[in-house]
Amino acid sequence: MANLDFFQLYRDIIAIPSISSTDPAWDQSNQGVIHLLADWFSALGFRCDITPIAGLPGKFNLVATLGEGEGGLLLAGHTDTVPYDAGRWSKDPFKVTEEGNRLYGLGTIDMKGFFAFIVSALQELDLGKLQKPLRILATADEETTMAGARAIAESQAIKPDYAVIGEPTGLVPVIMHKGHMSESIRITGRSGHSSDPANGTNAIEIMQQVLTNLMSLQQELKEKYNNTHFKVPYPTLNFGAIHGGDSANRICGCCDLHIDLRPIPGVAPQELIGMLRQNLNPVHECHPGCLHISHLHEPIPPYACGEDSPLIGEAEQATGHAAEAVNYCTEAPFIQQLGCDTLVLGPGHIAQAHQPDEYLDLSFVKPTREVLQHLVKRFCL
Ligand SMILES: [Zn+2]
Repeated sequence: MANLDFFQLYRDIIAIPSISSTDPAWDQSNQGVIHLLADWFSALGFRCDITPIAGLPGKFNLVATLGEGEGGLLLAGHTDTVPYDAGRWSKDPFKVTEEGNRLYGLGTIDMKGFFAFIVSALQELDLGKLQKPLRILATADEETTMAGARAIAESQAIKPDYAVIGEPTGLVPVIMHKGHMSESIRITGRSGHSSDPANGTNAIEIMQQVLTNLMSLQQELKEKYNNTHFKVPYPTLNFGAIHGGDSANRICGCCDLHIDLRPIPGVAPQELIGMLRQNLNPVHECHPGCLHISHLHEPIPPYACGEDSPLIGEAEQATGHAAEAVNYCTEAPFIQQLGCDTLVLGPGHIAQAHQPDEYLDLSFVKPTREVLQHLVKRFCL
């Protein structure tokens, strides 16, 4: 492959829109980015496998492999970006603008740009001498359902020893984060004329019991768990939204509550759901058939890298930063299901992700390239 200019790679990948959104008006295919990446990595000698995501037309994962056998290193990232607020961008989100030692554009750090870093780092290595395979994974729909990462975890198509996900961690190794769950609790009562409570079953009154019980669950979670890696060291339960009833002179027939739960590593989403159901069991017994709990989205499990993994030491050495925990979610809990030690580590700061005028600070260019080269040398060469 001709030595491709890093900035040209960046411009090319940012120029292809690949927004994912739960709003169909925004949602786009990631096929263009996947094909561009297949071109890039094929030119470096990788074998490229493009897999459609079942049930999601226009969405694909790419696995690019160099070398034979199992094990080795996986460098992973997502191909989608969030939507953008045109009125708040001062620049074209799809045209990389270099200004004041920064590269502006949608996905410059979160995280299409990471693939340009990989190509640029690999171009300077002698890849003919791989002892262990090197793989690149590019996923679909991280910003919405994590469908791409879920699909590769389910397929178990590859078995790397180590994985690094290039999300914008400020080039600090990240070894754990909480999971994320959004649950809906619906109380279905029976509406009726407000003049006599016996005319119906008031859903708001039953919801009041739900709230009382859940507040005791909040306390229980706080007392039972303590992971000091996190500023908030226990699983949280947030009351996010409540809606019920339609008018003052009707008995409220239906009330919906949306809560957010954040499990810490070691607490599986199913375990929290079990605690939730048990906590609300008295309400269920009092009012049979009235209570219904469902997912607003599929849970994202918590994630932690095994503390004795050599990947952590290598990443700390290469970056000069101690590993830490963060308070946002990534694909790590799914990538980890491939059986690999998994780290999150990439250029740019999370504070600039999902923001108008997202940018990469160019001071990350040299150190990121060096960190990637260090990891490839250590685990594949
Ligand atoms: Zn991201």
